[in-house]
Amino acid sequence: MTEASNSQAPADPEFYRSLPKAELHLHIEGSLTAERMLALAERNGVTLPYAAVEDVEAAYQFDDLQSFLDLYYQGMSVLQTESDFYCLTMDYLEVCRREGIVHCEIGFDPQGHTERGIPFATVVSGITRAQDDAHAQWGQSSALIMNILRHLPVTDAFDAVEQARPYAARISAIGLDSSEVGFPPEPFAPVFSAARELGWHCVAHAGEEGPPAYVWGAIVDLAVDRIDHGIRSDEDDALMDLLIKRQMPLTVCPLSNVRLRAVPTMAKHNLMKMLQAGANVCVNSDDPTYFGGFLCDNFAAVARDLPMTINDAAQLARNSIRSSFLTDSQQQPILSNIDRWLEAQR
Ligand SMILES: [Zn+2]
Repeated sequence: MTEASNSQAPADPEFYRSLPKAELHLHIEGSLTAERMLALAERNGVTLPYAAVEDVEAAYQFDDLQSFLDLYYQGMSVLQTESDFYCLTMDYLEVCRREGIVHCEIGFDPQGHTERGIPFATVVSGITRAQDDAHAQWGQSSALIMNILRHLPVTDAFDAVEQARPYAARISAIGLDSSEVGFPPEPFAPVFSAARELGWHCVAHAGEEGPPAYVWGAIVDLAVDRIDHGIRSDEDDALMDLLIKRQMPLTVCPLSNVRLRAVPTMAKHNLMKMLQAGANVCVNSDDPTYFGGFLCDNFAAVARDLPMTINDAAQLARNSIRSSFLTDSQQQPILSNIDRWLEAQR
């Protein structure tokens, strides 16, 4: 290890652009920019309570997960046509290109659209067409995660899986998101079994606002490959031991956690403590336009308030690649590029 790699990483988003990394926890609806929201509202004749970009951004002062979700579902209302979903996804894939996100695993919430009358096919066609174009244009690697809204009944989740069946080959995983507290993972076990039969991976939000018991439930009952968030796991020593032993990926979202008050301040965030303890954590942006930054902004925010060395930043990037759905042979050249990036920081 070089001396430079042991120094504190810079609190400058630009620094992280050249670091090859994956983003594994990103809700495509949460990447809708204020500009795009207003443009689509006008195009589709949707009335929003905002006149300008500043009005939208002023609304992004949340008290907790629920107050965010209320605004999030309102933002979704502007997404109506296949072209809307294409533009939304392409906007984010352009961010990947700019920010050195060499691979992304994009989550989408089909129930947030089908329940307002938008056909499942419209949503998936727009998203996958953007994925295909970004791959053709600059080789962007991406995968798709179909998230289930846990505040809706389990029968609705089964409906979503049924609707996804014709597109099963384009979807890599099932996930579980939305309001956590009061909605434990266990009832969704049969839905996850059905998804596994389609050949999908399984991931779930757990331990964001909910207790460690929800992380246990996601691991034991849903048999997930990955936990989204998982930051409350460190309240349970036996759980932390298991996560470290299994190297279970935790897709941590620092800016989101601060903005939704899951942690009081960035300085109090446990990301680096978990990394030092040997947990397989990585950095993600969750709903970047709502929470104040894309992936490089998250790295910079961590560097600003927490002890993160350049070597740590490289380790977080390695974890993101190793925790992705990419095959070993796809991961290897990226991991080598991370080593080269670290060497270049001497
Ligand atoms: Zn999330």
